[in-house]
Amino acid sequence: MKLDSVPLFVGGNWREPNGTTTAPVHNPSTGEVIAETPMCTGQEVSEAVEAADRAFPGWWETPSTERARVFFRFLALLEENFEDLALTISREHGKTLVESRGDVRRGIEMVEFACGIPSLLMGESIENLARGIDCDTIRQPLGVCVGITPFNFPAMVPLWMYPVALVCGNTFILKPSEKVPLTAIKIGKLLERAGVPKGVFNIVHGGRECVDALLTHPRVKAISFVGSTPVARHIFQIGTQNGKRVQSNGGAKNFVFVMPDADVENSVRGVIEGAYGCAGERCMAASTAVMIGDATKKVLPSLLEAARGVKVGPTDREPQPNMGPLITRQHRDRVAELIDIGVKEGCRISIDGRGVEVKGAPNGFYLGASVLDEVQHGMTVAKEEIFGPVLNVMRFSDLDSAIEQANLSPFGNGASIFTRSGKAAREFKHRIKAGMVGVNIGVPASMAWFPFNGWNESFFGDLHMQGKEGVQFFTQQKVTTTRWFSFGEGDIWHREPKP
Ligand code: NAD
Repeated sequence: MKLDSVPLFVGGNWREPNGTTTAPVHNPSTGEVIAETPMCTGQEVSEAVEAADRAFPGWWETPSTERARVFFRFLALLEENFEDLALTISREHGKTLVESRGDVRRGIEMVEFACGIPSLLMGESIENLARGIDCDTIRQPLGVCVGITPFNFPAMVPLWMYPVALVCGNTFILKPSEKVPLTAIKIGKLLERAGVPKGVFNIVHGGRECVDALLTHPRVKAISFVGSTPVARHIFQIGTQNGKRVQSNGGAKNFVFVMPDADVENSVRGVIEGAYGCAGERCMAASTAVMIGDATKKVLPSLLEAARGVKVGPTDREPQPNMGPLITRQHRDRVAELIDIGVKEGCRISIDGRGVEVKGAPNGFYLGASVLDEVQHGMTVAKEEIFGPVLNVMRFSDLDSAIEQANLSPFGNGASIFTRSGKAAREFKHRIKAGMVGVNIGVPASMAWFPFNGWNESFFGDLHMQGKEGVQFFTQQKVTTTRWFSFGEGDIWHREPKP
């Protein structure tokens, strides 16, 4: 089978890499290798940074309205190519077509947000702050910005970063996940067609070496990272030590609380979609269902029945399953190992997805929907991000003790509650230590207009991606304080006050 090509995009040219080291890209539905991602050399990274640096002055001087117009054209091209992008995501990532369409749609929303840049860049002003003195602020771009992205949202996560960075007047280098480079390349080609000038947007590929070269390059001003917590911490430390502005999103472990008065159908749907959507490979996955009081009798049986009904299968063909494979064989095996560890540490396995057989795709990286019940704080499966189709169930007699336990988690991305009680929902919203809270919503991932708001070890930095914080991250303010002493020569309209 002919492999897809994985070129770099540097200074407006798509080109083959110099080096020979590569990492395989799989179709997880079949296990086949469909492309090889090159590992860029330090020299290639430097060329990309230099190209972005050269392009910066011209792009900065381009009026924000003109920059926005490039993104209006980009938006139209994304819509025109919507289905092709979704198919590419399903092929290289393995999520279902419905989920891939969601991935593209969430990314498009970021571009819609970015198209409003002239309003978003507006500063503040006040006259006569002191006698005869006026003050105003403007927002200016930083320079060369870098984005390093994970495998799990091949369209959305890169689009969290560069549309906003670019409309603000910065130039950009994207380093997509080596596991899913094909979507990033297709979207990059659409941006090129939309008319982005040469060097303003660049793509390099690779792993740690490539990332470290970007993190330490003196011409790079800002780094946006999304990935696992250990790498997010590393990026934040090295980036800030090298004087860069850094926003670094890490992993997560999210709790969905189900109160005894919860609507059964809606809470079951919320937990199931949250736990098994994208095969659990989401930083906003519902990784733990927290059953409070009689919810174990009223809701848990329906939840288990729904989990048993989740059909796993290939996503690169029809008919589509409910859930696709995991990203690689190694990752599938690690998730299965975590289920083993959970059982050894005392969890009850209510549904075991290990050894699931999928007809017509014997080599795909499949794992069936699984449920571990009676999970206790301190167990490995309670502490580690599993990032697979495994739902933990924790049981509590009351809301107070459940909130206390959930707040011991080192992460802090999302948490939801299903209840008919406004008081319980308010208490939860007030006390839970997570940055994105849902009330009768399964996965409370914020949309483009609001910050993607991780707390604790789910985020390192000060300004989140998305929303106004995204614009703040990619700009620096300038405050001008102005006083005029005289009207100057030629001001013939001015009349001196009569004595
Ligand atoms: P990962 O951390 O393995 O990789 C992310 C990126 O970092 C990739 O581009 C990779 O090439 C690079 N990388 C990997 N190891 C590196 C190293 N040692 N030094 C420098 N760069 C390195 O993450 P992944 O497996 O691709 O993605 C899954 C993780 O991403 C999960 O933990 C998930 O929760 C997290 N995630 C978080 C968010 C969020 O917004 N908080 C969103 C999506 C995914």
